[in-house]
Amino acid sequence: MIHRFSGAEAVLSALRPTDPLLLLRTGAATAAARDAIRTFPGTVAYAVKVCDHPEVLRALAAGGVREWDVASIHEINAVRAVQPNAVLHYMNPVKSREHIAEAYDMGVRNFAFDCQAELRKIAECTRGDRGVLPVLRLTVPNDGARFPLDTKFGCPEDEAVRLIGLAVAMGYRYGLTFHVGSQCEDASAWEIATTMACRTAQRAGVTPEVIDIGGGFPTQFRGTEPDFATCIAGAKRALDRAMPDFRGTFQCEPGRVLAAPSASVLVRVELRKEGALFLNDGYYGLLTELKWMTGVHPVRRLGDEGHPAKLAPFAFYGPTCDSVDAMDGPYWLPADTDEGDWIEVSLMGAYSTVLVTKFNGFPEARAVIIDAAEDVRLAA
Ligand SMILES: *Cc1c(COP(=O)(O)O)cnc(C)c1O
Repeated sequence: MIHRFSGAEAVLSALRPTDPLLLLRTGAATAAARDAIRTFPGTVAYAVKVCDHPEVLRALAAGGVREWDVASIHEINAVRAVQPNAVLHYMNPVKSREHIAEAYDMGVRNFAFDCQAELRKIAECTRGDRGVLPVLRLTVPNDGARFPLDTKFGCPEDEAVRLIGLAVAMGYRYGLTFHVGSQCEDASAWEIATTMACRTAQRAGVTPEVIDIGGGFPTQFRGTEPDFATCIAGAKRALDRAMPDFRGTFQCEPGRVLAAPSASVLVRVELRKEGALFLNDGYYGLLTELKWMTGVHPVRRLGDEGHPAKLAPFAFYGPTCDSVDAMDGPYWLPADTDEGDWIEVSLMGAYSTVLVTKFNGFPEARAVIIDAAEDVRLAA
């Protein structure tokens, strides 16, 4: 069973831990889901790959999430375990035949594709059911994203027009989707991509059942990133301009922006070497993203409340023997930070628990629940 605490300090004094801890802030996840659903003029389907921890899935469901973007049978089972009647969208553009068939038998009806061969697989593995909705993934610009996703999946516009024609000739209705890249900090990306999707549909001459603007909405690590409402307003503007009579489903698939507030990570300093702190968790554990999005996650040393300290810039190293296990930062912490100090890294719920490895034999961090209602965005 997972223990509950009022805050990070309470965890430390009660557990006297020596290993890193995952602090689940489930109330923040519920609030994020509620906000997104209130803001978005359509369906919000959470992208499960970002964090599939059962407590986080439950918290998002409590915030009103009823539809889920899944990419594997494992994710389907994880969602159904917390919400038996969940509506699932299989949005991985490449799937095995066995997984398509199994997902179909489990009630999934929307399947992404980005090429003719995958459309054929979907047709052949869903018992001839023309009620299945093939959802075509378009190539759109990913220039504003910290993590571009356009090099692996997506179909260019001319080919998309041809594939829509093929799907319709096979007897299907269809949907359109895209992904502007993860942690996209250019709010105009969704407006540009939605305009492209509408143009593609108009060239094909058949109105889609679903227009799905994907994920990529940025977490407010520094507070200067565009907010969810601004990003989706652009997409809605483009839709209203290009297809004012659209009566199908307008959908989004936020992952990071819903999951990030759901957890922070508590790590201990094992050694200080000048401006470098060697921590008991790192790149191969929960802190993978600190390597790729360097210096943006809020950090604080525990026990400093009410004692403003002089700050200094630090780099982090994880506990493994691999030199990839380094996160340059800089992370600003009290200048006298040293062995034995505990550091809380916030907004760590996205792309953390799902990326933990067994490398070097370090165990997966224990999870506890923090019930605090406080704002999770900590003062820098
Ligand atoms: C990863 C992914 C998402 C979520 O992306 P975020 O950047 O975390 O919001 C949504 N849809 C698809 C198809 C994805 O692969």
